[in-house]
Amino acid sequence: MIQATTGGDAQQFASDNYSGICPEAWAAMAAANAGHAPAYGEDAWTARAADAFRTLFESPCEVFFAFNGTAANALALAALCQSYHSVICADSAHVETDECGAPEFFSNGSKLLTVRTQSGKLTPEAIRALATNRGDIHFPRPRVVSVTQPTETGLVYGLDELRAISAVCRELGLALQMDGARFSNACAGLGCSPAEMTWRAGIDVLCFGGTKNGMHAGEAVVFFDAGLAEDFGYRCKQAGQLASKMRFLSAPWVGMLESGAWLRNAEHGNACARHFADGVAGLPGVSALFPVEANAVFLAMAPDAMERLRARGWRFYTFIGGGARFMFAWDARIERVEELLRDLRAVVAEAA
Ligand SMILES: *Cc1c(COP(=O)(O)O)cnc(C)c1O
Repeated sequence: MIQATTGGDAQQFASDNYSGICPEAWAAMAAANAGHAPAYGEDAWTARAADAFRTLFESPCEVFFAFNGTAANALALAALCQSYHSVICADSAHVETDECGAPEFFSNGSKLLTVRTQSGKLTPEAIRALATNRGDIHFPRPRVVSVTQPTETGLVYGLDELRAISAVCRELGLALQMDGARFSNACAGLGCSPAEMTWRAGIDVLCFGGTKNGMHAGEAVVFFDAGLAEDFGYRCKQAGQLASKMRFLSAPWVGMLESGAWLRNAEHGNACARHFADGVAGLPGVSALFPVEANAVFLAMAPDAMERLRARGWRFYTFIGGGARFMFAWDARIERVEELLRDLRAVVAEAA
């Protein structure tokens, strides 16, 4: 028997990736572990997971399973681009700031064109301006728009915003990809169906995050236009993203989607973020940097207060705009959120 190295660390809200695996995903993996199954995605779990996506999205979509979000985004964008094309995204987009150049690498050089934005949201005007600024042969031709839903700052594009973006994309001949590392949190935030937020709003390809939603690993690349998925399997294999024991990447999705855990987990994370933000409201010297629309809360506060909070054992990132970021995952415990609130109130009182 393997013993745990510690009793488990105290729950933190630095990243939704600090969380473990949710029971539904874990049970599906255990079920997939009962005996042998064909390899490389030829198994029944993988077929069942793809069908679960088709049911969820009310669409005959093509689905591929990658190990993580960087691979999903990079390969999805590469599938939409030639090397001389470019991709329009926000300057804070994960594809720009946190993927070590993987989109450029896997597309053999497609350039990312960034839009400066506070919120992380693209607008139809900004897309049009960037896409029509240059039409000459010396500039990489804009071919794709990438939106992050919810954004890196926890904002959710409304359906009207997505539709307006996709209208410009269609007009200008641009494909539209969605980085949905926290797609479930956006669905929970808007209370709309996955279909409404994707193909019905004009999304061509979605990267649907499983890891932050409660799985051990795995993101699904969902193509709503089968033509765009041509040869995508080869692309995955070449990039080292074809899991040999694929069922362990696909079965958790069966657990998540068939049970509804994908949405419950996200609703819980969002509710904890809301609870935390409400608890912080009115604290002197502390303010929310962005509206809380998903499972993230960004707080502006004095560096000294942040230091004191860290000294009390709390971990959090300060990487976007200098604010303190708190993320609430599927397993966030409300008592632990209360502890964080207590300590935050205490450090604010110490500073006063
Ligand atoms: C977490 C995240 C990803 C995926 O990151 P990986 O670590 O590669 O799984 C992609 N986009 C956004 C916006 C993310 O927050």
